[in-house]
Amino acid sequence: MKEQQPQRGFDAPPASRASDTSLLASLPQETETAPASTIQADLEHAMRGWGADRRAILGRLENATPEEKAEVRGNARLMERLRRELGARRFQTALELLGGQEQGGGQQGGQQGGQQGGQQGGQQGGGQEQGGGQQGGQSEGPQGGQSEGPQGAGAGQADAEAAQVIARRTQWDQVITTSDDLAQVQEAFSGYWNLQLTNSGQNTNFTVDLLRRIHQTLKGLPDQDTRAGVWRRLNLIDGGGGTWDVTTGSVNLGGAAGSLPNQQYGNRSVDWLSAVVRHEIGHAVDSALGGVQGFKQSVGGWSPTDIDIDAWAAQMGNGWTGQGGSPTADERREITTQIRAMMSRTRASFNGIPLETDTAAEHPIRRYLNAGVPVIDIARECLSAGGHFYGRTQAIKEFNGKCFAINPYYARFQYCSPTVRNTILRTYQLFSADEFFAEVYTVFYDGYDPQAGGQPGQHLPVDSWKSWMLQNVHNRGAAPDQAAQQGLTNPTIGIHAGRDSGS
Ligand SMILES: [Zn+2]
Repeated sequence: MKEQQPQRGFDAPPASRASDTSLLASLPQETETAPASTIQADLEHAMRGWGADRRAILGRLENATPEEKAEVRGNARLMERLRRELGARRFQTALELLGGQEQGGGQQGGQQGGQQGGQQGGQQGGGQEQGGGQQGGQSEGPQGGQSEGPQGAGAGQADAEAAQVIARRTQWDQVITTSDDLAQVQEAFSGYWNLQLTNSGQNTNFTVDLLRRIHQTLKGLPDQDTRAGVWRRLNLIDGGGGTWDVTTGSVNLGGAAGSLPNQQYGNRSVDWLSAVVRHEIGHAVDSALGGVQGFKQSVGGWSPTDIDIDAWAAQMGNGWTGQGGSPTADERREITTQIRAMMSRTRASFNGIPLETDTAAEHPIRRYLNAGVPVIDIARECLSAGGHFYGRTQAIKEFNGKCFAINPYYARFQYCSPTVRNTILRTYQLFSADEFFAEVYTVFYDGYDPQAGGQPGQHLPVDSWKSWMLQNVHNRGAAPDQAAQQGLTNPTIGIHAGRDSGS
């Protein structure tokens, strides 16, 4: 479960434009590239930033000319964005203001799904039965809402397809939240989230309750992190933790996570299942964004993953210098060899190992054991906790404005900023820069509801973490060129795989 997997490139970068790219991937290209018209620009302006100005959106729609309304209805991409920004209830209002065929598409499709979902389940989603869109168009509004908008047949087709997608999702959602038939719920879940569901565990199975809870958790994340191909498979495994497998694009989730108690994140008690799901998706987002070194190294002050012991010691100022004596170059080599040997012996153990284990009385490690040499003191403390060094925050000592540890699991010498060590969400954030990002991501979206609007990050205690996450993760679709350049460089460093998130 805790095997480190070889690093491999992740071949599916996220949607670089708006987050709904995947949802509308099959729609005609012109919906993405058509120049912004007046009403489109107005609506986009109202939807910009951290929270949509819903009053402005609805006000603009209310005052739109019939031609403008038809234009909005004919722009599937814009419609989908409105649906996301406004939430279900206000989107209905918007549809009423717009008149025309979209109204039937959203409303009737949804209601049909609600009534029939229990019996017919996910199979219904594939067909043509979302003709509700066309029906509504004929009966509503003086303009009739013909599918031929000002942009012509292409936009009309896009409109119909978007209405279908929305209606299908509404039906799947009904099945997931109301059906007790596991096979139906699995199929609907798979369709709704555009994911493959697999089970590689020996002693675990999907249940309706588990899928329903995961469904709710995923709804608390933006589409760009759930349905855009950042990860493509939800795989059930044994145990109560999770891993991210970059090679297969799989979030591996321990089936027992659903029955474990809440965990403390800072001063909040957080549902463990939802935390594991978000944590592993955080890893997937990390991979998709190319390693988020701007966050790990610039914001979190983390070391590069490949520094050696001398570079590490140099960052301390005088890492090899003790009050009671300083080892010579030869002695440093012997000490380094011993530290590395003990790292590999204790690796993932709870118990740890004394640094001087199996050394002769004259070994330099013993001579300098109590000489106050920072390198030796830190190694000794961390090794005594083994692979669980991160839980012993006092072992992670500060020198020269950085906090130093050795990670036996990865056989790494590492450091982070004092802020990272002192502002604990969960001590697991001290395990590595990757885990730090995943834990921050977990808390960033804790309590967030995309439908309700507002901005995520309310429970993140450090402003610089929050603002970086907002700009580079949450709003990355809004300004792709900027997001691509800010701290998302170095695509080959720091991509990791398969780390266990468990306790
Ligand atoms: Zn992790």
